Amino acid sequence: MTKHGHALVVGGGYAGLVTARALASLFDEVSVLDKDALPDRAAHRPGTPQSRHPHALLARGAELLEGLFPGLREELTGHGAPVSDFGHFPMLYPTGWSPTVRTGLVLQTFSRPLLEFLIRRRVQALSNVSFHAATEAEALLVQGSRVTGVVARSRSTGRTAAREADLVVVADGRHSRLPSWLEKADRPPARRLQVDGKLAYTSRLYRRPPGSDPGFQASLQATVAPTTPSGGTVIAIEDDRWLVCLFGAGGISAPTTPEGFDAYAATLANPHVQQVVAECRPIGAIHRYSGLGGHWNRYDRLAPPLRRLAVVGDALCALNPLYGHGMTVAARQALLLRNAITAHSLDGACGVYHRHAVRTLLLPWLMTTSLDRGWSPEPAPLSARAGRSVLLYLLRRIPRNPGLYGRFLNVQHMVASPLTLLLPFPQRQSHSHSQGQSQGRRP
Ligand SMILES: Cc1cc2nc3c(=O)[nH]c(=O)nc-3n(C[C@H](O)[C@H](O)[C@H](O)COP(=O)(O)OP(=O)(O)OC[C@H]3O[C@@H](n4cnc5c(N)ncnc54)[C@H](O)[C@@H]3O)c2cc1C
Repeated sequence: MTKHGHALVVGGGYAGLVTARALASLFDEVSVLDKDALPDRAAHRPGTPQSRHPHALLARGAELLEGLFPGLREELTGHGAPVSDFGHFPMLYPTGWSPTVRTGLVLQTFSRPLLEFLIRRRVQALSNVSFHAATEAEALLVQGSRVTGVVARSRSTGRTAAREADLVVVADGRHSRLPSWLEKADRPPARRLQVDGKLAYTSRLYRRPPGSDPGFQASLQATVAPTTPSGGTVIAIEDDRWLVCLFGAGGISAPTTPEGFDAYAATLANPHVQQVVAECRPIGAIHRYSGLGGHWNRYDRLAPPLRRLAVVGDALCALNPLYGHGMTVAARQALLLRNAITAHSLDGACGVYHRHAVRTLLLPWLMTTSLDRGWSPEPAPLSARAGRSVLLYLLRRIPRNPGLYGRFLNVQHMVASPLTLLLPFPQRQSHSHSQGQSQGRRP
């Protein structure tokens, strides 16, 4: 197979890494630029402030990652990331607890720095991929209707240089600067859809007594507009730690002082979150990430289109993270881009990719924004009103219906079509068992 020359990926976060991996077999050379210094261990860094907060990987995302990085699940397990079934993860909705079901959907919990480090190490080991850390992209190079590279500044020398490429992939995250680069290049902007659930995450780590078995690996209390603005979650992660996150939606947020954090946790109805906060020893500072609205830049409709430019991950669409779609969607996009480049010329591939990427986003966008629109007095469009009615209908029934919950989880994890929710149920649901079918019984 003839390879395509040089692909340049702006952003070496999660989406940049999975995309570099996916493209490595199609290009002679793949360069990854990141404005941060990239640590040689699992560590936080300024460019990914979300790493302080829990990241749940949906089952579909875990499958795709395993395909791109065979053995990753085992490697995570080797680092102490626990594994169970997603149906055993207690979720408290305003309508009651989720039932316990066996779904076969793997729940593996770990910190985001660990996942990113393990993936980065694999990508760094590829002979045709090079990393340029502490290198910040500042502008796009455009000739006519084609992107030909970026202008990037080295943070260590302060020097700015043009970096030419046959394909530019923008993966610079939720606060992407691509809109301003397009403006600088005198190109019309992409239309941005935006729904702000005014969500804030406030997180803290706790020591988990080694060998202890509290009876849960993760537990969650959901926020739902407009009645339930506070919630939280706790997940067991590597190195015998708990990561607790308190949610505030609709404009409220948990305090970042230790006393305020504890008091907020005590107001929740989830006993697992309360138990960890009350009984375990905290480690380190409390971190907040606010302004977690959803936005979707419609690069598929860029008019006139730009050839040789692909946008992946949060730079394309940043979703409300409560539903855990971000990393799964980004892995799907990396593979779609690879498929588009395999099947089309480089000039045509990005348009095809952006159109196909819309399909990866429609369901997560509808799921996350339909409920979030409930925080705003603005009238919601018909599709969102319909989505909201369906979700509220499901939330009312889930606590009493393990079979429905199992199907809902499969849809949420992007392994089954939403249409499966409409199928009739068999008389006996042998694959699931219910524990605590009525509100309030699960723990
Ligand atoms: C609080 C929070 C919780 C989340 N929880 C979940 C979850 O449970 N499950 C889930 O699937 N997803 C979750 N997400 C979403 C997930 O973090 C993102 O979908 C995912 O990180 C997207 O990867 P990305 O590469 O697009 O962005 P990022 O991972 O943010 O990476 C962007 C990279 O670009 C670099 N960069 C930025 N600008 C430049 C520049 N000009 N030049 C060079 N480099 C640059 C940054 O340093 C960074 O490395 C959560 C997000 C947040 C904010």
